[in-house]
Amino acid sequence: MSAWHSEGQKDPPMNRISDYFGELTFGIAQMREKLPKEAYQNLIKTLEQGKKLSPETADAIASVIKEWAAQKGATHFCHWFQPMTGLTAEKHDSFISIQHAYYSDTRVMERFSGSQLIQGEPDASSFPSGGMRTTFEARGYTAWDPSSPLFIIEGKRGHTLCIPTVFFGYHGEALDNKTPLLRSNQVLSKEACEFLKLLGDVDVKSVTATLGAEQEYFLIERSLAEQRPDLILTGRTLLGSPSTRGQQLEDHYFGAIPSRVKAFMEDVEYESYRLGIPVKTRHNEVAPSQFELAPIFEGATIAADHNTLLMDTLKKVAYRHEMLCLTHEKPFAGINGSGKHCNWSLCNDKGENLLEPGNTPHQNLRFLAMIAVVLKAVHTHASVLRAAIASAGNDHRLGANEAPPAIISVFLGSLLENILTNITEGVASQATEAQIIHLGVSHIPDISKDYTDRNRTSPFAFTGNKFEFRAVGASANVSVPVSILNAAVADILKSATQDLRGLLAKKSGSRDEAIMELIRNYTSQSKAIRFEGNNYSQAWRDEAKKRGLPILSTTPEAVAVLHQEAATAFLVSTQVLSRAEIEARYHIAVERYNKTIQIELLTLLDLARTYVVPALEAQLHESFSIQSHFTESKAKSAGAARVKDLQNLYGELLEHLTALTSKTQEIAALQSEETQMQSLSKEAIPLMEKLRFACDRTELLVADKHWPLPKYRELLFSQTLS
Ligand code: ADP
Ligand code: MG
Repeated sequence: MSAWHSEGQKDPPMNRISDYFGELTFGIAQMREKLPKEAYQNLIKTLEQGKKLSPETADAIASVIKEWAAQKGATHFCHWFQPMTGLTAEKHDSFISIQHAYYSDTRVMERFSGSQLIQGEPDASSFPSGGMRTTFEARGYTAWDPSSPLFIIEGKRGHTLCIPTVFFGYHGEALDNKTPLLRSNQVLSKEACEFLKLLGDVDVKSVTATLGAEQEYFLIERSLAEQRPDLILTGRTLLGSPSTRGQQLEDHYFGAIPSRVKAFMEDVEYESYRLGIPVKTRHNEVAPSQFELAPIFEGATIAADHNTLLMDTLKKVAYRHEMLCLTHEKPFAGINGSGKHCNWSLCNDKGENLLEPGNTPHQNLRFLAMIAVVLKAVHTHASVLRAAIASAGNDHRLGANEAPPAIISVFLGSLLENILTNITEGVASQATEAQIIHLGVSHIPDISKDYTDRNRTSPFAFTGNKFEFRAVGASANVSVPVSILNAAVADILKSATQDLRGLLAKKSGSRDEAIMELIRNYTSQSKAIRFEGNNYSQAWRDEAKKRGLPILSTTPEAVAVLHQEAATAFLVSTQVLSRAEIEARYHIAVERYNKTIQIELLTLLDLARTYVVPALEAQLHESFSIQSHFTESKAKSAGAARVKDLQNLYGELLEHLTALTSKTQEIAALQSEETQMQSLSKEAIPLMEKLRFACDRTELLVADKHWPLPKYRELLFSQTLS
């Protein structure tokens, strides 16, 4: 029986993807088809102008949705939202209501009203609010976001209709990650349109941020993972000696996908397609048992919903395939961690990519102006962008193997770099004609060179027609970094409009000359953010320091930025987050960091105490009893030396265990969350590393039969055998 059958479902069909793509979703296209004309027009007004839906329209929409959902087999519905846990949340209600109750004769019928569609009120007291609500007034509301399609999650006995919603408090304060993203899109569109109109695109109506999030993940044999409390409780290995073979052979990246993993991927893709998620690319990543899945890009808000759904799907399907999917940023020491590269661009209502060089001089000028704006936005708001990707998990990854460092910089590639340098230095810019690669093989045509070179070490790289924010962690909710990036760009677009107006008024010359001057000014003002070299080198750290770029190596340093009013003022002025919401997000970030590290600490202590120490004791006991029987002098002294090594290690292990135990108690007693965060980061983490190191040495010294945890070699290489 295939893993698919185990849920009572059919085998994925072999027909064309387009036959079943989106069959579990209900979005604008279906509304247009099913709704009465007037109701549909009212809905579009809500979407385009933010007009309130009338109760009648809401009821009409609810009725067609119910009909569709019932026909698909849905018995329940839920408001699906993204609280600040970084995960998704859902509370299910069945469609039934009591129709008739007479003595014991209770009848039910399926009902779904407009008000149930539009608004919900989950008990919000247990979601993080960062102190914006006290528990006794813990009202939280969910409101339908009609810009994102409804979808159905299948179950064994009945399916659930999921209604994408935003989640907010009594005074309209955002309690989720989605609301700021929606707000940021709105302000970005407004500011971009104003700027583009000045550039000459007088008929532009809207601008949307586009997003393609490449998701990296690990797949681990479930039966092995379940024997590792650290993987189950924290999503990463807190100890474990590196496998003798890791990624040094460079044989995994883009290698043949193991058949078992391929079967898993096919199921993930099938489920994703039915949910309307346009996943496109699948491949092996660099580390053993590491893989990647990338979708075709979409509008940023839908792409963000889709990424969270995709992460849920990856986990569910992996479980069915007897594997565990890890989206932690650094599940294993010594090999690559996982990121989520956020490919980001801007698109106007004609579908033109504003970060793509075009065929006309106007398009190219617009392209360069947009590049100049993004450069200045990243330069001006680098510290807040860094804060937006900060998490305890991502701390292990930034700066580690194959991952972008904690210093935000932008890589443009030599061609664009040359053009901008020429512009700032006033040299006439050379033609940007496509360069050609001559392969010298007669039957292979010459290939036009993608004019952007690659720099895998850059945290924010231009890749030909989009920027790739590579420093985002694999487990992140992309709404967070993308809303900050949108806000940063909207902020600079606003000042660019003002500056360009000034230049146009001052100059008697042409508009193009004024635009060129703006590009020149913005690129030279933001020059410090551009870096083409190796971001991992110490030389870059020194250089970045000289340039005055923010170097925020850890989460505590990064989230402190949220307390700097000047740094976050643009979030308030763009209305993406209010002062109170920023403050709340600061508290949530601190609290999440503290709780994450504390859980890791306690889990490590537990592992050391109940797994590692007893394993070493068993070995000591055995080695001691063997060597005590020796009479022959060579064996006797070698045996004694081994016992001595083990004893030394035992002493060390217990010493680190005691030190970390008392540090943990000390930190738990601290009153302020800030001091807790500082001690966890500066004192507890170094002690954890010492304890881990002693545990890892123990793993290498004790007999395999005494070692109670699956080792790295088993965890990382079990999939690749299939
Ligand atoms: P790369 O060569 O960088 O791997 P791809 O074309 O394969 O580039 O794209 C990587 C990701 O970038 C995909 O998810 C893709 O959909 C996304 N992407 C491509 N164009 C855009 C765009 N204009 N805006 C946002 N994302 C994009
Ligand atoms: Mg990748």
